[in-house]
Amino acid sequence: MTALRPEVADFDSHGGPDRDQPASEGTGLVQLHESIATLLASRGQWRQAYQHLRSAYDLVYADQDVQPQVPEQLRREVDRLRREHAEAREQSLRDSLTDSYNRRYLDQRLLGMVTEHGTADGLAIALIDLDWFKQVNDTFGHLLGDRVLQRVVELLQEELPEGGFCARYGGEEFVLVLPGVDVVGSVEIAESARMRVERHAWASLAPGLRVTISIGLAYEPPVGDSPTRPPVAPEQQLLRADSLLYTAKQSGRNAVAYRENGRVRLAGAAAGRRGIAEPRVAGY
Ligand code: GH3
Ligand code: MG
Ligand code: MG
Repeated sequence: MTALRPEVADFDSHGGPDRDQPASEGTGLVQLHESIATLLASRGQWRQAYQHLRSAYDLVYADQDVQPQVPEQLRREVDRLRREHAEAREQSLRDSLTDSYNRRYLDQRLLGMVTEHGTADGLAIALIDLDWFKQVNDTFGHLLGDRVLQRVVELLQEELPEGGFCARYGGEEFVLVLPGVDVVGSVEIAESARMRVERHAWASLAPGLRVTISIGLAYEPPVGDSPTRPPVAPEQQLLRADSLLYTAKQSGRNAVAYRENGRVRLAGAAAGRRGIAEPRVAGY
C-alpha cells in the first residue's frame, strides 16, 4: 500500500509516529489515519484501510486554517492495532505446543547473527533430540508426550547466555543457539541442560517415566581468531551439529558430542564411554 507521504513511519516492526511528539501542524491526525490504514492493510482489512487513507487524503488537501485535533478515540485505535500487530507477529514466530521459538524465527535470527564474514563473538549451535521418544508416546500416550516436550523446553531454557534462545527444529528436536560463548562455556551449558533433563522428577508426570536427550554441539569461533579461515554458514553449522548428534546417539545416547581440536568428544561422565562413534558426515 502506498502511503500519502513518504516520511510516514513504517509500522511493520517498531514503527509508527513518535507518540511523544505532539500532534503539531495538523500532521498528527494524518499520520494516525495512515498508521491505522497500514495496520489494517497488513491484516487484509482493505475496505477499512481505504477509509482511513481517504480521511488522511481529505485532511492533507483540505484548505484548513484551523489545525484539527487528534481525537482520543483514534489514538486508542492505533494503540490497539499496534499492540495486536506486535502480538500477531510474535505468535507467528512461536511454536504453538511448546511456546519455544519456531524454525522461521531460528532461520531469521541465525541469518542476522552470522554475516558473510562469520560471527564477531563466537557462536555455538546445539541440536537436541529426545531419546527413544517414540517409546514414550507408545507407553504413556501422545498427550503425555506433548507434556514432556513442553517440560523439556522449560528445562532447556533455564540457563541461556545473553542473546541465547531455544527453537523447535521439528518434531522432538530442538536447537539452542548460544552466542558470545567459548567452546568450554558452550559445552558446559549443553551438558548441564542434558543433566537437568536426566535428573528431572519425570515420575511426577507418570510413574515409571524417564526422559533423556542427546545433543550435537557445533561451535564456531569468532572471526578474529582465525581470519584466514572461511566463515561457516548457519546451515553448515547446523549440519555439523546434526552429524555430532548422530555421534551422541550412536555412542549410547544421553550425551553431548562436540569437537575439540578436530577430535570428537563426549562431555561429562559420557567422556569415559568406550567406542565413540564417528560422525555421520566425514569431517563434520
Ligand atoms: P531416537 O533416540 O533415535 O531419537 O529415537 P526416537 O524414538 O526418539 O526417534 P523416532 O524418530 O523414531 O521417533 C520420534 C517420535 O517423536 C515419533 C513422533 O511421533 C514423536 N513426535 C514428534 N513430534 C511430536 C509431538 O509434537 N508430540 C508427540 N507427543 N510426539 C511427537
Ligand atoms: Mg528425531
Ligand atoms: Mg528422538
